[in-house]
Amino acid sequence: MSQVRPDEVSAILRKQLSGFDNEADTYDVGTVLEVGDGIARVYGLSKVQAGELVELPDSKDENGETVTGMVLNLEEDNVGIVLFGASSAVEEGHTVKRTNDISSINVGDGLLGRVIDPLGNPIDGKGAISGDTVRLPLERKAPGVIYRQPVDEPLQTGLKSIDSLIPIGRGQRELIIGDRQTGKTSVAVDTIINQQATQDSDKPVYCIYVAVGQKGSTIANIRQVLEEKGAMEYTTIVAAPASSTAPMRYIAPFAGAAIGEYFRDTGRHALVIYDDLSKQAVAYRELSLLLKRPPGREAYPGDVFYLHSRLLERAAKIIEDDEVAKSMNNIPEELKPKVKGGGSLTALPVIETQAGDVSAYIPTNVISITDGQIFLDTDLFNQGIRPAIDVGTSVSRVGGSAQVKSMKKLSGTLKLDLAQYRELEAFAKFGSDLDASTQAQLRKGERTVELLKQPEYQPLPVEQQIALLKVNDEGLLDNIDVEQIGDFEDQFLETLGLKYEQEMSALAKSGKLDDTFGDKIIEIANSVIDQINVSN
Ligand code: ATP
Ligand code: MG
Repeated sequence: MSQVRPDEVSAILRKQLSGFDNEADTYDVGTVLEVGDGIARVYGLSKVQAGELVELPDSKDENGETVTGMVLNLEEDNVGIVLFGASSAVEEGHTVKRTNDISSINVGDGLLGRVIDPLGNPIDGKGAISGDTVRLPLERKAPGVIYRQPVDEPLQTGLKSIDSLIPIGRGQRELIIGDRQTGKTSVAVDTIINQQATQDSDKPVYCIYVAVGQKGSTIANIRQVLEEKGAMEYTTIVAAPASSTAPMRYIAPFAGAAIGEYFRDTGRHALVIYDDLSKQAVAYRELSLLLKRPPGREAYPGDVFYLHSRLLERAAKIIEDDEVAKSMNNIPEELKPKVKGGGSLTALPVIETQAGDVSAYIPTNVISITDGQIFLDTDLFNQGIRPAIDVGTSVSRVGGSAQVKSMKKLSGTLKLDLAQYRELEAFAKFGSDLDASTQAQLRKGERTVELLKQPEYQPLPVEQQIALLKVNDEGLLDNIDVEQIGDFEDQFLETLGLKYEQEMSALAKSGKLDDTFGDKIIEIANSVIDQINVSN
């Protein structure tokens, strides 16, 4: 018979107790204390991280899917969670489980041509996303300054007025701002259509269109236009319509940024459009108020500026060096083998103003974060000047150095001409006895304004824009009626394309218009003008 000594017993007990590990349960699972308005307060989850995804296995929506949420508030005795799915399925006492996954999205080339929700789930009925994907966090620190190179490559929008006067460069953040129904979305969609690969630029700029708080039918229309123009091939739509929950509208731009970063960090060029950030700010305000965060100006939470700045900071042009690019901060392990330098992410955020008030809280914030703004004006829009760009208040602070050479040269006097015209226009209304030089200026200005008009969904390649600006620069348009400038444009571009295909293609590549071809352009313009005047 063996003798059991008391110290042995206590040693065993101690050993067993030390092995007793209940941590997983107490820290990784919590219980819903209260729920309402898409927000749940949860007890437990004491190790959860801000921004982490959580699952509520007891709560199933009408399709039987488990409701998920994201941790936003870490408080002393509870955790505030925003619910992505049907919050009506969540009840007091339901279990909440950690996933140890900071909110992320699966990204890959398979997203091109697809419409997804901000969590990466396809919503276009075309089945699962195909091909390899990597999981990227929705929020990632923007690349530091040593990983960036200056903006020096143009991002052509295909819109004459923008490419000539407010040029955008790859890696830039340019705000599109204006009242309701002033053509903000159209500018964005035209820009996407213009990113198609051509024989002169064999790779497209990959586009991500983030629709926040828009009507489902509006998003469907945009998709249809892009589809018809062959632009969906290189585009992803992230849709958080007005009918979606506030958390979805809040994270949608971050999802778009994560997709854009995937292209950027794999050495490609991407363009992301946030349409629009006013609605994201409203969603964030809604969440913040429900989470009882202190309201600030216009009831927005104090960190709404930070929300937009950390989002837009992610636009960048990465330096060419692959090795340095690989060492960039916060590159997830999974993505590392694919990382290449030289990529870019350009951001075009959209902001809606009320009655042209750019000094409201959100507009001023975003104006100060971006590298310039394209201001769309209701009056111009109603006068039929479309795109309704107010040249006086629009600016691009970095794009000039990225502008195509000849374009830059030709646009030099354009802005001045237009500004002078606007001033004279006011006087011209009072009477007709103006001196000859004023009349000439008015005549020229009228024609320039007319030339810069452009219908929707018809972006023009840069070489055609250069040719048109050359004609305007030479003052040739003075010889035709304003009403006929549209006709002139069509005929002129057609003739030019037929007769000088090679020269146009060379111009597209070099961006430099030499004198010989310049003379030929003038010749063609004159002959088209003659034709138009004869047929009158
Ligand atoms: P919302 O505030 O509703 O989002 P928005 O500012 O995005 O509007 P759009 O939807 O782009 O504006 O355009 C408003 C209307 O103007 C649309 O019917 C569109 O077809 C028309 N429009 C936009 N741009 C042009 C253009 N260049 N030429 C002719 N019509 C245009
Ligand atoms: Mg719009």
